[in-house]
Amino acid sequence: AALKRSTLKLGMIPADGIGREVLPAAQRVLEALGSSIPKPEFIPLLAGWDHFTKFGTALPEETIQVLKTECDGAMFGAVSSPSNKVEGYSSPIVALRKHLDLYANIRPVASVPGMDGKQVNMVIVRENTECLYVKQEKMEILPDGSKKAVAIRQITERASSRIGRMAFELALKRAEERAANPGGSFWKGPPKVTIIHKSNVLSVTDGLFRETVRAVKEKDASNRYASVDLEEQIVDSMVYRLFREPEIFDVTVAPNLYGDIISDGAAALVGSLGLVPSINAGDNFAMGEPVHGSAPDIEGKGIANPIATIRSAALLLSHLGYTAPAARINAAVNSVLLEGKVSTPDLGGKSSTNEVIDAVINKL
Ligand code: ATP
Ligand code: MG
Repeated sequence: AALKRSTLKLGMIPADGIGREVLPAAQRVLEALGSSIPKPEFIPLLAGWDHFTKFGTALPEETIQVLKTECDGAMFGAVSSPSNKVEGYSSPIVALRKHLDLYANIRPVASVPGMDGKQVNMVIVRENTECLYVKQEKMEILPDGSKKAVAIRQITERASSRIGRMAFELALKRAEERAANPGGSFWKGPPKVTIIHKSNVLSVTDGLFRETVRAVKEKDASNRYASVDLEEQIVDSMVYRLFREPEIFDVTVAPNLYGDIISDGAAALVGSLGLVPSINAGDNFAMGEPVHGSAPDIEGKGIANPIATIRSAALLLSHLGYTAPAARINAAVNSVLLEGKVSTPDLGGKSSTNEVIDAVINKL
């Protein structure tokens, strides 16, 4: 539930490229909500590739400290990355996830009610700290002189359990939101969590993930998740069904690598990258972030689609407990998209970033 706050202090990290053009959208939309949320206070913070090239660091210590000690949440724009490895540089977004223990990457993918195309209203909850992304790779030379590359894949009970809990909590929350706004979703059944895995082949690692997530519901003494249906899908067949009948999914939960792949696939179901939001969440902190990158090809033109960022701000609000104002933002965005009069070039329109922000604020 929302804490009683008099202000909402948000760290704002535009970082690079179009991140700097879209992040003001979050600020303007949150300000337009008026008294339905605590007065937002925005704290601009530095990070990014540009900052690295100028000052030698991609993530200043001060940014981390301010986020940890002063902020209720944060919004991140986008980061550019050099095409080849640069000595001393590492991605600030990856570092921020570590420093703030943002172990879940939450990506809702939803179609706009009333618009042509497949009906989708799902969330991918991606484990964000382990799996193949522990980056423990090594190269060996075999006796015959040929190479052998090996990567370690780590799955722990602790990480699987906390990501599972996050998924079940989210399923309950979405059910509450549907109850409060019955027209807002086509989903009529009970909340559902689908575990994505490949334990038929990787019985030890994916087996542990699957069993641990199942146990979150089945071994919970308080029966907190009794109302949530629990299903599972082998990742390959999940992808098949995702493209054929995406409407069957509510909350899905996956280890890092599968989560990475299926979330880009799911995003393709609903159009432009410029529409897809995410948050990085932990137990104590959350940071909204559009899924897209810094888009150097359109940087500086004022035509970046701000909707992914606006939806990320709504996600952050909802995560902090302000579900009604978050729903208002999403309804305003959907109404602008459905009308189709104001849209940026990635959606086939001619409008600027600012014109789209204005249109959303008008609807609010
Ligand atoms: P990065 O290395 O920064 O992640 P990338 O190569 O992955 O960059 P993105 O920045 O994600 O690429 O962009 C991919 C394509 O989608 C580009 O053509 C870009 O212009 C387009 N795109 C991404 N975000 C938006 C947006 N908000 N509005 C319009 N077009 C976008
Ligand atoms: Mg990218």
